[in-house]
Amino acid sequence: MEKKINLLAPAKINAFLEIMGRRSDGYHDLKTLFIPVSLYDKIELDLISDGIKVFCSDEDAPSDENNLAAKAARLFFERTGIESGLEIRIEKNIPVAAGLGGGSSDAAAVLKGLNSYFGAPFGIRELCSMGLGLGADVPFFIHSVPSYAEGIGEILAPVEKMVPYEVLIVNPGVPLSTAEVYKNLNLGLTKCKKENKYPALNQGLCDIKEILCNDLEISAMSLCPVIEEIKAYITGQDADGVLMSGSGPSVFGLFSDADKAKKAAGIIKANTKWWACQVEMILGPYGFAA
Ligand code: ATP
Repeated sequence: MEKKINLLAPAKINAFLEIMGRRSDGYHDLKTLFIPVSLYDKIELDLISDGIKVFCSDEDAPSDENNLAAKAARLFFERTGIESGLEIRIEKNIPVAAGLGGGSSDAAAVLKGLNSYFGAPFGIRELCSMGLGLGADVPFFIHSVPSYAEGIGEILAPVEKMVPYEVLIVNPGVPLSTAEVYKNLNLGLTKCKKENKYPALNQGLCDIKEILCNDLEISAMSLCPVIEEIKAYITGQDADGVLMSGSGPSVFGLFSDADKAKKAAGIIKANTKWWACQVEMILGPYGFAA
């Protein structure tokens, strides 16, 4: 039996992110629209006799048992009782602590990859509840299709009809801690309209460029002012809409025209020190393996 497993872990953007309130356990209830995009971490798993080893290409992410991919593997082996070790090699293409969900996606990819390799001992619901213990975004990445989310992000409904856009993602190259952004959040300054957008979204009656809003932007911008500059720069490239993703600091622009998105990425790479990448929305289910 082949002992190597190759996986792709996509990034996500949030087309809206509304904070509904703070819960007694410290988490925040939210409503968000997650969209997976075609920017991938590449993960290679190699079954070894014992121990979990991590080799991660980005030194901003841990290369030890604290890596979420390692935590996912340990959880899988504990829950199944399978006695195995694992070598995890991560080619990190998703910027770290960037609001793009890279760590959660790596964890979800490992859970799905091991589950599939070992004959699917868990169904998708069980994988989601295991994943939720690792991070609030992990259940979304288990499904990896555009999803409307409530709760802390774990109550998910797929959004099947969506106007696709080319997406330009820009990151200033400074990490921003999600915990700090929530700590700095003033709930009186959240401004998204909290109406239920799911029915219109799911019937394809809602163009996401009309509903772009992120309640974490004000907090993130006060900690990392360059976010505002990036938003203005992408807007100046004739984007159809611009928003910060998740807790930032990455910002994305939506373009209905692929050439315009490509041109904007080129201009940003040539004229700024920011990281920029043109990607597509992943609208359908994709395979677990690369
Ligand atoms: P979140 O909003 O879930 O915090 P994010 O996209 O802003 O996500 P991540 O790139 O997932 O940020 O990183 C969040 C933290 O998780 C960082 O402090 C990072 O060191 C840690 N981490 C652990 N494992 C990983 C991993 N495999 N990839 C990226 N970061 C990881």
